[in-house]
Amino acid sequence: MFIDLQELERQPVDFDEEFAPGAIDLGPDFQQRSALHAAGRAQLVEEHHGKHQTIKDIRVNGELSTQLDMACARCLEPVVENVKRAFDLLYRPLGVDAGREEMSVTGAEAEISYYQGEGLLLEDVIREQVLLAVPLKAICREDCKGLCPHCGTNLNSGTCSCAEPAEDPRWSALKEIRGKLDR
Ligand SMILES: [Zn+2]
Ligand SMILES: [Zn+2]
Repeated sequence: MFIDLQELERQPVDFDEEFAPGAIDLGPDFQQRSALHAAGRAQLVEEHHGKHQTIKDIRVNGELSTQLDMACARCLEPVVENVKRAFDLLYRPLGVDAGREEMSVTGAEAEISYYQGEGLLLEDVIREQVLLAVPLKAICREDCKGLCPHCGTNLNSGTCSCAEPAEDPRWSALKEIRGKLDR
């Protein structure tokens, strides 16, 4: 769905959309399990700079929800992530802040992005929000044993006959560190 600046100049645009799996490209790390629901409103926000300059920002707010499969970081089995996120975003025309060192962003200000041309695609907004909502890595369960590093057997569901390598003290130190990082 294209959020058209011209239409926003007449009135705010409400959206209530269902995106089937695959309709939005979430990249190779996530599989969408169920329809992605997104509802909210897009509206024009005009910033007046002096008498002559008007900057047309697009504010998009709403919420989205879906279910994604991610691979367990240890055993690679799918892990279901429930994704739910509310968003309130401000899109400024691309280039409007060019030349300025940095925007003076106060803590209360909405998240700021940029749009180009005559508007923006709702799908792009949603994709970004979904990717911000998912954790960096998922683990299927707290005590997931992961894969055997030698043969790849999933050690949650089977055992393999790979010999436990003789512990090198340097390795156990490393493992200890990893154990701390994983927590
Ligand atoms: Zn796992
Ligand atoms: Zn093995």
